[in-house]
Parts: sequence; structure tokens; C-alpha cells
Amino acid sequence: MKIAIYPGSFDPITKGHLDILKNAAGIFDKVIIAVAHNGQKKGFLSVEERVKLIKASIQHLDNVEVDTFEGLTIEYAKRIGAEVLIRGLRAVSDFEYEMQLSQTNSALCDDIKTVFLTTKPKYNFISSSTIKEILNNNGDISKFVPEPVYEYLTKKKGNV
Ligand code: ADP
Repeated sequence: MKIAIYPGSFDPITKGHLDILKNAAGIFDKVIIAVAHNGQKKGFLSVEERVKLIKASIQHLDNVEVDTFEGLTIEYAKRIGAEVLIRGLRAVSDFEYEMQLSQTNSALCDDIKTVFLTTKPKYNFISSSTIKEILNNNGDISKFVPEPVYEYLTKKKGNV
């Protein structure tokens, strides 16, 4: 059984992330979307909120599960028996950082390989940070995020 993890912040999950996940789910037996805890970096949403929104957004994907982890991604991958790390590529600007990350991870553990996936062009430009920016400026985020995320964030914003 080939297990892949898709690690990231997912603060919040977007339609771009979801498209990467759908593609990964078609290639691997099991895909675990893994939300990274970072004690020092306080996110926009709590890890619990992110997990809740991911769960609500992946119900149509049978072989995808959600988890959280702290520390090195590669150690987490080893612990759960994953052989592949999925990362998404948007523009060339992602490439340098992602390349460095994947080579560092290979140096730490050569048995676990990074696989890069891309999205459909219509989701390519979407990022969690631009969604937060649009939301803060009262713009419409409905095109960029799954329905449960849209509902949750617009309600949350209305309550502040
Ligand atoms: P991180 O903080 O680790 O970059 P993110 O949640 O921002 O976490 O992204 C997780 C992964 O998904 C990264 O590899 C990122 O490049 C990729 N990704 C995010 N949005 C898109 C998108 N619209 N198209 C392709 N890849 C994406």
C-alpha cells in the first residue's frame, strides 16, 4: 500500500489544495493531508479549525485522511510509513523554495521521495494568504475556497 502525505499550513484549505489532493488520491492508495503545528507561528485559524474545515471539504475523497504533526515533516512521514511527500507547484516562484525543501528532505531520508503536482490553470494562482487578504477587505472568496470554508469564514467574519 503506497501512502503519500500532503503536508502544509492549510490556513485555510483552498480549491487549489483540493485539486492537488484529488490528483494525488487518484495516484496513491492513501493520502494523508497533514496540517503542520508550529508553536511559534500563530496562524489565522487554529489547527483545530483547519482540520474541521479540511474534513468537511474532503468528504468526496474516499482514500484521503486528515492528521496533524509537529516537528520535521520527514520524521512524521517515516513514523506513519509514508513513502511519498506531495507538494504543489504554482509559479516559478515556488520552484526554488520547493526544490531546496525536497533536496533537504532527501538528504535527511532518501527513502521518502517528493512528488510535485500542479492544479488546473483556474486554481493555479490561489493561495491561502490572498484569501485572507480578500476576506479582510470584504471581498468575495467563494470562487477560491470549498463551500464549507466559505460558510465558516463569512460567518466568523460577521461575528467579529
Ligand atoms: P506551506 O506553508 O507548507 O507552503 P500551504 O498550505 O501554503 O503550506 O501549501 C501546501 C502546499 O500546497 C505547498 O506545496 C504549496 O506550494 C501548494 N499549493 C498551495 N496552493 C496551491 C495552488 N493553488 N496550486 C498548486 N499548489 C498549491
